[in-house]
Amino acid sequence: MPVQKMDVFDVIVSGAGPAGATTALFLARAGKKVLLLDKEKFPRDKICADNKTWKCLDIVKELGLWKQFQKLPKAEIYGVLVASPNGSEMYTPLHEKDIAERGHWYNVKRIHFDNLLAQAAKKEKNITFKEKCAVVKPIYAVHSKTHISGVTYHDAKGKTHDAWARVVVGADGSQSPIAKAVGHSPVVKGRYATNTRAYFENVKGPMDRCELYYLKGICPGYFWIFPVDKKTCNVGIGMRPEDFERQKKSLEQILRETIALPQFKGRFKKAKQVTAFKEWGLSVLGKRRPCAGNGWVLVGDAGTFAMTFSGEGVGPSMRTGKIAAQGIVRALNENDVSARNLKKHYEDALWKILNPEVKGFRWLEFLLLNERLFDFVIAKSAKNKELIEISSRMQHDYTLSKKLVHPKTALKMLLS
Ligand SMILES: Cc1cc2nc3c(=O)[nH]c(=O)nc-3n(C[C@H](O)[C@H](O)[C@H](O)COP(=O)(O)OP(=O)(O)OC[C@H]3O[C@@H](n4cnc5c(N)ncnc54)[C@H](O)[C@@H]3O)c2cc1C
Repeated sequence: MPVQKMDVFDVIVSGAGPAGATTALFLARAGKKVLLLDKEKFPRDKICADNKTWKCLDIVKELGLWKQFQKLPKAEIYGVLVASPNGSEMYTPLHEKDIAERGHWYNVKRIHFDNLLAQAAKKEKNITFKEKCAVVKPIYAVHSKTHISGVTYHDAKGKTHDAWARVVVGADGSQSPIAKAVGHSPVVKGRYATNTRAYFENVKGPMDRCELYYLKGICPGYFWIFPVDKKTCNVGIGMRPEDFERQKKSLEQILRETIALPQFKGRFKKAKQVTAFKEWGLSVLGKRRPCAGNGWVLVGDAGTFAMTFSGEGVGPSMRTGKIAAQGIVRALNENDVSARNLKKHYEDALWKILNPEVKGFRWLEFLLLNERLFDFVIAKSAKNKELIEISSRMQHDYTLSKKLVHPKTALKMLLS
């Protein structure tokens, strides 16, 4: 009887964005045989605001890609401007101690950044990287309805293939077919925002900061202007669908109206829109949800790990990729890829880090949902050196956000 040739790997990673490429690179360097599949061909665009904080940059360095990263077109970022619904503004510079230790932030277009990771994955001898291959569904182990042992995917010619592995990683973003198949859709009601963005040249204003405007009618979503190189800005808006549907307007319409507001009109007078508006949805991190099961794990947006308040997801995704890879290596070495063991080595290890951050973020969410308090905190903090210092350190350690809404701090604000 002819024997069918089988594609068998230690790990299959579905999706080669920041989460998937990072997972694959760490696994490969630990000696594991990886099949990395992506439905697109790199370089490919991804709708994003393009900011890269230390969470991301530290891992780029750890992966030995810093030299290549330095060659990418980018903007150097030294601080963040946040405006509350009544127009109060607070500029928070990155803290000088953090800059001395870790450098500043950068904004880099995703088409360049993701390609850097993808090309690094292509060079890795333990990674078989197949582009234009879309994962359709997981394959379950014989006699099991829950243990995943492979995936079915379509190649560029529409041909269907099966591949097998001890562990399958869902790194396929905010519409992840793997996450949906295991019953944990990344589209989470109440935590989901639709976003649209375009690139503009010659927007007047500072090119060394990220600007986030939590405007009335848009908050808890925000309008952003993020420079990405010397003359280009990434301009966009993200809102909960129920908020813009209530206004009976499309998101693009709201973005155009925002740009035309008196406070921004002058800045866009000579600006030229150089790409079309493109939309993308994203759910942000909330309560703990399962991200490991029998033979599978979820990383990045597939596991809903983007931060609330800012929507930062590149660094958090890469971090989940790194911790998942470490957990999978341990589980494989112990020859036990059961839900219990993957949960222990990945999900529990990850949530040890996430728990204090999520608690910190809850305070920020509380502010976003209480506009008057948000206005008050921003107006008062903007003039208070101690609060700017806390806010500055918060860019490095989000657990400090609870200090901003602590009764002691509130009292100080009232008295200041
Ligand atoms: C408008 C917007 C602005 C944002 N701004 C920022 C920001 O400034 N900074 C920041 O840090 N984060 C930002 N984020 C969040 C960030 O973009 C995401 O958190 C990040 O891209 C998550 O990385 P990922 O690898 O999990 O997913 P993705 O980047 O979405 O990568 C998933 C990959 O999987 C592939 N894929 C999808 N389906 C399949 C399939 N069936 N088979 C095979 N491959 C598949 C895709 O082609 C893609 O390459 C923003 C998000 C949005 C929507």
